[in-house]
Amino acid sequence: MKRRAGRTGNGKKLLLLLLLAVVLITAAVKIPAAFTEKVRAVSFGPKVFYRTVELDRDEVFRGNMILVNNSHAYRFDLGEEQHTIASEKNEYYRAKNDEISLNLITIRQFNAMFRDFYRQTGLDNVTVISAYRDYDYQQRLLDERISSSGYGAAIRWVAQPGFSEHHTGLAADIAVADAEGNTISFTGEDDYAFISENAWKYGFINRYPENKTDITGIAGEPWHYRYIGKPHAYIISHYNLCLEEYETYLKQFLYPQQCLRVSIRGDEYRIYFVPASPDGKTAVSVPAFGSCDISGNNEDGFVVTVKK
Ligand SMILES: [Zn+2]
Repeated sequence: MKRRAGRTGNGKKLLLLLLLAVVLITAAVKIPAAFTEKVRAVSFGPKVFYRTVELDRDEVFRGNMILVNNSHAYRFDLGEEQHTIASEKNEYYRAKNDEISLNLITIRQFNAMFRDFYRQTGLDNVTVISAYRDYDYQQRLLDERISSSGYGAAIRWVAQPGFSEHHTGLAADIAVADAEGNTISFTGEDDYAFISENAWKYGFINRYPENKTDITGIAGEPWHYRYIGKPHAYIISHYNLCLEEYETYLKQFLYPQQCLRVSIRGDEYRIYFVPASPDGKTAVSVPAFGSCDISGNNEDGFVVTVKK
């Protein structure tokens, strides 16, 4: 009887310990979700901490946050310098040839992402197959697609010249090279899931998700990545938005009313929108101390991103 009672007592203790463990594990799982990654509207703080910079109308059409789609053309006359990928890239991925080029920040962020991907998987066979395109190149692509697939199918896949995100140098198509050196489509699955899951950490978004084709006007393209910057990529990736929706969403965060605060694992960002003055210069309020990034939206204003 005693031994049996003892066993029952031990059984109860074990059950209690198990329950305690479950409670602790549940609490530990909840904490990161609730406290390390947050997006919320906050006030700006005292005006004395802000100053203004004056920006020309042309600046609306420049920067990492410009929206280029079927209704927003790229301004080639204001375009930024492109660099060949081959001359700037590290050894952890490939470029289709020595000529294809991108904006320098895009290449640097690819370097960081593919280095980390290689460290995770040992794979160095991701290949950038299409990067910056000038107007004539886009026209040739469209003409080729029309002759192979017909006009209706072609315009779902290939943008009109002037309206392709590839003109920005901030976007690229990637593929996977097999053992023979042939490239196969990048799906972002299986061995390559690291890239689709972590691209936001390097400032990239999958620009044309399958479930947003009615808004983007482009068929789902898991291989097309666009650089916009880390806090923006974080929000778009975690809130199931596309760039068109996000640019509209940001227009509610105006100085001096409210800004968007984004906390990502210890890094804190403030994001807000400043409408461009229709005639000439726009006074943009920015923090008096420290640096910030100001980008046009390619339409009617500026997105200000402050890293605290
Ligand atoms: Zn593309």
